[in-house]
Amino acid sequence: MMEFLKVVFARLGKAVEAVLEPLRADPESDHFRLSSPETHTTTIDGDVGWGRRPPAVVRCPRCGADIDQRDARDDIDCSRCVAEFSHEDFPELALQYLVCPVCGNRMEHGQRHPHALDVPEWATCHGCRYHWEFRHSY
Ligand SMILES: [Zn+2]
Ligand SMILES: [Zn+2]
Repeated sequence: MMEFLKVVFARLGKAVEAVLEPLRADPESDHFRLSSPETHTTTIDGDVGWGRRPPAVVRCPRCGADIDQRDARDDIDCSRCVAEFSHEDFPELALQYLVCPVCGNRMEHGQRHPHALDVPEWATCHGCRYHWEFRHSY
């Protein structure tokens, strides 16, 4: 019985090789391997748009505590003094820093038109290279 199975597996092995051989010879098969999902993980992460803004930490104007605002559309509620702000109040509050949504580092942020807007227009993470832009292109 074991001898029989060995013969079957030996034949199967040959059959598999026969199927793979033409694929290896085909230049298209290399191209196919490059577009496999693993290669996408090496690209630099990034987002565009206010709705995809990284989580922010702002200063509570009433008690000075840091308030986390995870999403740009979330209300801004101070957990220390229970001051409550709408997401529309964001430009009035002192932004401390944005938090990288990929690795959790503090991000460097800035503005491209400081006189036009009171909110950050870009943020970049020096830890993992994640980058966020308010708008698509300038
Ligand atoms: Zn407060
Ligand atoms: Zn990061």
